[in-house]
Amino acid sequence: MDYPCQSLAIPQPPHSLVELQSTMVGGGFVIAPKFIPQVNPEYRIQMWGFFWIKLNLFWAWWWPGFLFLFGFVGRLWCAVCPFMITGEWIRRISLWLFPRKQLSWNTQWLNRWGGWIVFAGFLAIYLWEKLWNLPHHAYLSAWLLLTIASGAIVSSLIYERRLWCRYLCPIGGMNGMFAKLSIIELRSTQQLCGSQCTTFGCYKGSAATTITFADPLPNEGQAIGGCPLYLHPAQLQDNHDCMLCMTCLKGCPNRSAQLNLRFPALDLLDNHKGFWAEVALLLLLLGGVFMHHAEKILGWLGFGFVPVDADDLLLSVPIALALLCIPGVLTYLAHTLARLFDSQQPNYLTVIYAYLPLTLAANLSYYIPAAMTQAGQILPVLARTLGYSGAGLPTLTWSLDVAQFLQGVILLSGMAFSSYILLRITRRSLFNNIPHLLLMLGFTALFFNLMI
Ligand code: SF4
Ligand code: SF4
Ligand code: SF4
Repeated sequence: MDYPCQSLAIPQPPHSLVELQSTMVGGGFVIAPKFIPQVNPEYRIQMWGFFWIKLNLFWAWWWPGFLFLFGFVGRLWCAVCPFMITGEWIRRISLWLFPRKQLSWNTQWLNRWGGWIVFAGFLAIYLWEKLWNLPHHAYLSAWLLLTIASGAIVSSLIYERRLWCRYLCPIGGMNGMFAKLSIIELRSTQQLCGSQCTTFGCYKGSAATTITFADPLPNEGQAIGGCPLYLHPAQLQDNHDCMLCMTCLKGCPNRSAQLNLRFPALDLLDNHKGFWAEVALLLLLLGGVFMHHAEKILGWLGFGFVPVDADDLLLSVPIALALLCIPGVLTYLAHTLARLFDSQQPNYLTVIYAYLPLTLAANLSYYIPAAMTQAGQILPVLARTLGYSGAGLPTLTWSLDVAQFLQGVILLSGMAFSSYILLRITRRSLFNNIPHLLLMLGFTALFFNLMI
């Protein structure tokens, strides 16, 4: 199996040109590429070291860590995201230089189409990742980050608050979907808000407010600008949009907004309102696991010689799309079968969310080997890249066997949790859910074969 930045050996650049890129992944900036015909070998080794570090940070640290944390802290990444922080600072500077009223949102249009724009963005990212082999090309990974940062910056310059994050960011769409599995939530009490609040600062923004209840904390009742995503915590149905920035909590004068610990995936269990664009994203992310293993699947079917890359787009794009469609087709067939035997089954839009834990588990599992075998080597490689020996610097890596064990545990946990959610959502017996349960088992077995 081929993982990003698989070896610490410094790869040899192409003979003709050496492509130099510089990316600060953590800060979300990209310095434009240059092409330098001749580079002395020492410098060349340093540059390749930088490439490795960038790839390592992105694919072995950020992405797996990101997926791992969804179950615990939901969409918290969006509260500290460097793309959006950059956008916020640029907005402030531009408003200081050119005072103006920013545009409001066309909420109706965004509610209708935002989810589909997110889906289209993620589909494009997936095809780009697979066909242009993003995890092995630092400059392409950098361009991906630059694209997302540009969206955040441009929308911050034009629109008030964080329109990009609420409706259009592909990463944000995925974050929102997986945040529904989280064990924490931010909510406020509708009765308290309705009967006691005069400021509604959590939504509109407010000046510092005097607290009237006993023993207020020093950080309660602060002046705030209102929820950056235009949410009211009393009206949140699920975790999709809330990024846990705590703005509402700091400004609430009635201690109505609270951070709660809860049963994981509680959003999905009672009166969950699904929407089709999000379901399409869920199925896309599940299909992504098949697409990432296109070569292996084609090999099983006797077509191992067919390339799936950017050199052969006419053939590769339909193959990639067909692999991405596998979960959609199979889950729909399973559901049709389930409803054939049990007409009381809820509709497809409701039931399909049971596959969410398995989707997260499969995606996390895919990136686990890179995280466990590569992430912990970053210090010595950074030192070597900067011209030091790196000897004696700590490393923390595990063998591939340990990574595979963990992959197995994650996949089995995902399947078990998906099965539990299925039974809770449908409120039907084990027997009535057999088509979906068998499909979840089948997906898990397939993922074992593909990844382990
Ligand atoms: S939605 Fe996208 S741009 Fe906004 S904070 Fe989240 S990851 Fe960053
Ligand atoms: S959460 Fe706090 S600030 Fe917001 S409406 Fe309720 S009481 Fe008012
Ligand atoms: S202000 Fe409150 S409701 Fe809005 S994103 Fe932050 S934590 Fe969530």
